[in-house]
Amino acid sequence: MENSDILLLNGNYSISLYVHIPFCRSKCYYCDFFSVPVLKTTPVNGIVKGILNQFAHYISALPDVEIETIYIGGGTPSMLGPYLLKVLFSGIKSIYLRYHSTWNIKEWTVEANPESITGEFIEICKEYGITRISVGIQSLHDDYLKILGRPGTSYDTFKALDLLGAHWNGDINYDILSGIPGTSEKHKHKLQEKHLLNDIDLLLKGSPEHISLYSLTLEENTEMYRFVREGSYIAMDSRMEEDIWIKAASLLEAGGYDNYEISNFAGPGKECIHNLRYWHMEPYLGLGPSAVSTMPYIKKTELDRNSPGVIRITGKADIHQYLTDMSGENNPFLNAETEIISPADFLFENIMMGFRLKAGILKDKFIKRFGKGLDEIFPGLIKQWKSEGIMKTGKNNYSLTKRGRFILNTLLLSIQKHMELPSLKQIQVRWPPDKAQEK
Ligand code: SF4
Repeated sequence: MENSDILLLNGNYSISLYVHIPFCRSKCYYCDFFSVPVLKTTPVNGIVKGILNQFAHYISALPDVEIETIYIGGGTPSMLGPYLLKVLFSGIKSIYLRYHSTWNIKEWTVEANPESITGEFIEICKEYGITRISVGIQSLHDDYLKILGRPGTSYDTFKALDLLGAHWNGDINYDILSGIPGTSEKHKHKLQEKHLLNDIDLLLKGSPEHISLYSLTLEENTEMYRFVREGSYIAMDSRMEEDIWIKAASLLEAGGYDNYEISNFAGPGKECIHNLRYWHMEPYLGLGPSAVSTMPYIKKTELDRNSPGVIRITGKADIHQYLTDMSGENNPFLNAETEIISPADFLFENIMMGFRLKAGILKDKFIKRFGKGLDEIFPGLIKQWKSEGIMKTGKNNYSLTKRGRFILNTLLLSIQKHMELPSLKQIQVRWPPDKAQEK
């Protein structure tokens, strides 16, 4: 099917908006997100303009769709500088308000790196209604920042924390990393436990609303992968890494933070709404080079609005191609890479994402989407998992126990083996629900 045969579904439903800012001061050694260092010749203005063009194009095709959350990520959005941040924030708002009389965004997050957090950045965030700043801290120790190839120092981080403490009243998230490869013997890895726990202690003194604690993954296309393969760095032993992560997680839980998703911890009522929607597989629109969207679509030839399908659109990870595609009146959708997600694959993705959450998959939502409960679709498997203490069913959810979440990948493999069942070929998707049904 050609992209020109497809229409994104306009209707009375809500989406999340993700904006990818593909610029960083330099490339961190472990990072495989699409981002490029900013040089004098880098077309930063053009990319921001392209993002607004892309948004205007999409939103004109989706005038009835409401945006519930916005997440400006990257890359390093805070690096855009005051002028372009204002252009971006005001542009998103004014384009949306061409089709909507109210601006009811529940959560608007902007990612920032410590070295680019300034008083002016914070004031701009306040002025444009940003509700949450997510800070990529990773570590409070210069040794680790160096190993990671981070652009800033711990001095920058403490300065940023002071500024946020004094001037920012909205929500804050800190990203921190465990399992950082070491430069020498194993016993030095053990030291990381002490440092990480100290970092957490210190960060909790500022009472952030949210903390993401990630284990460093060695991604193939990164410098870090090469360093470890060549022996310049030694990857942390996986048992030790797990042990350190569990201790760090316990410290966060003791501090009152709920481990509501595999790597995420929130103070009471402070879960990230944008990411919750993502884990619950609500539709989202991605703007910017390499950004991904998952949206309901219909074929132009079958304008049957009762049976939209699910489409994934992946933007090209190429700055210059993006500039060309988003200039003028071009339809940004025509050149994008698209994939139709089959009902069975969508079902699998719902399970994979939902089980990441402590609260699990919401029963009502699941049944509305697929016409049947999880226990009707996989009766044998669910019965077995329940008897093994891996899974629980509540009044309105299917969730994994802590043990189940630890072996999530193994459980997903079992589900995958069952995906060939003939009954799954009959699965139909009703997605998204309209807003009246969502309430
Ligand atoms: S700052 Fe973030 S997005 Fe940029 S290279 Fe480092 S890890 Fe990747």
